[in-house]
Amino acid sequence: MSDYKLLIDGELTDAASGETFPSTNPATGEKIADVPKAGKDDAVRAIEAARRAFDDGPWRSMSGAERGATLRAIVQVIDDNAAELAELEARDGGGTIRKAQLADVAGGRNAFEWFAQLAETQPDRIDLEGSPFPVSENYVLFEPYGVCTGVIPWNFPFIMACWKIAPALAAGNTSVLKPASYTSLTALRLAQLVTEADILPPGVLNVLSGPGGTVGEELAANPMVDKTAFTGSTEVGRRIMQLASGTIKAVTLELGGKSANIVLDDADLDQAAAAVLWGTFMHGGQVCESGTRALVQRSIYDDFVNLLADRAGKISLGDQLDMETDLGPLVDRSQVETVERYVALGREEVGEPIVGGSRPDALADGLDAQAFYRPTIFADVDNSAKIAQEEIFGPVLCVIPFDDDDQAVAIANDSIYGLAGGVQSGNLERAQDVAARMRTGTVWINDYHLIDPKRPFGGYKESGIGRELGTQGFDAYRQVKHIHVNPETSGRDNHFHYAMLSGNI
Ligand code: NAP
Ligand code: MG
Repeated sequence: MSDYKLLIDGELTDAASGETFPSTNPATGEKIADVPKAGKDDAVRAIEAARRAFDDGPWRSMSGAERGATLRAIVQVIDDNAAELAELEARDGGGTIRKAQLADVAGGRNAFEWFAQLAETQPDRIDLEGSPFPVSENYVLFEPYGVCTGVIPWNFPFIMACWKIAPALAAGNTSVLKPASYTSLTALRLAQLVTEADILPPGVLNVLSGPGGTVGEELAANPMVDKTAFTGSTEVGRRIMQLASGTIKAVTLELGGKSANIVLDDADLDQAAAAVLWGTFMHGGQVCESGTRALVQRSIYDDFVNLLADRAGKISLGDQLDMETDLGPLVDRSQVETVERYVALGREEVGEPIVGGSRPDALADGLDAQAFYRPTIFADVDNSAKIAQEEIFGPVLCVIPFDDDDQAVAIANDSIYGLAGGVQSGNLERAQDVAARMRTGTVWINDYHLIDPKRPFGGYKESGIGRELGTQGFDAYRQVKHIHVNPETSGRDNHFHYAMLSGNI
């Protein structure tokens, strides 16, 4: 028996095998709960339930207004339980309670609200004018794909769950979601709350905690699935694409990044330093769109680097549940070890970091200092260094000098990734010219990290395929069907296109 349950076909249930695995608070090592360890059989059962709910249930034939109302009921459930969800999120994943409240839970409910609005307002039919065929009428229908699966990472567990579930349901699909194994709790809790409130027909939403290698692979490969959406590493994204190719499923991928935050010489240095530090160190750099390469114009370079070093030293590490804490632990000891390996590599490639470069010596009683890593800055980095090219997914910033705007754009684009980026400048025209030339999915000018469900989000190059959020993220869950109607129901003369044959039929 576990404290949390899988949601399959409207039932809260244990894994068929009865197996569980622990979820812990990384700051203390304390076990929070045992969660069910779903296997392939559970995944298949969930997919079958989603298939039945789509093919035979009431969900797909509901009006957009009805589906919108259902999503708004989920918004209400999130709002009614927001404090509990935020605390659970922070405890399970190590992100601060501030992040959990302001980004995860608020962002998740806002995603449901946005997609409810789109379900209510976006047309599911567009009439086409100007057919080249004289007598035909033409229109396009937007239809749900069917069964949509989602596999998500551990850095924003609740908001990622909402980004996958909300647009799928809003467009009339059914959904099967797998959270990351480090952080399954808030997705399972949301499933439980929605089930207890009796909001959805059985099988419309299914949530499974369990290993990526079995459950995740089944969600990407199973032929009953019509679309799969993945957020996580580029390596696993490649695997998802291969698995989905078996039945040519629609795929959305949101993958890694190594985004450039460009500081032009006309920037307000104080404001730009805040944008660079927040752009890198928020959630310990465990953010796919973090601006982990700060490109700084040479004429302001020394002053700016001193400012960064001074400010970064003031970022506080501590208990993530304390509202005063800036940074909690990283998600797991293995992630700290990855960061440590990259910092060692940086020492070889670049030299000593100007701040950080180690775990903290000690923290308050009860906290395991070994689970934390200090904000770390390498200055004078060459963009070809591995620490500037590879995603570290930890609190490590590379500062790279440049001479002019063309060189800044060239360095920014010299990456396999293209998820996001920033331009900090006092000249909005110049900043927008630079932004337009960056090969990346989002650019924040004089800001960073501001993601809103109303704006599309996703990557160029190896950062992904497709977009989530915005109206684009709704259309990503809708098939497009063109219907051509010849209103002349008899007589062959009006069948203009038969002319392409010789006339023998
Ligand atoms: P990950 O290893 O790719 O895991 C992501 C998810 O995929 C987890 O649920 C994982 O399950 C599952 N998974 C692992 N192997 C799988 C397989 N063979 N088939 C199907 N699913 C599989 O990434 P992570 O370490 O959790 O997250 C960090 C990475 O995600 C970073 O590279 C970051 O850039 C990226 N990320 C990107 C975005 C974005 O929007 N572009 C957002 C957040 C994170 P288990 O947990 O059970 O292993
Ligand atoms: Mg945990």
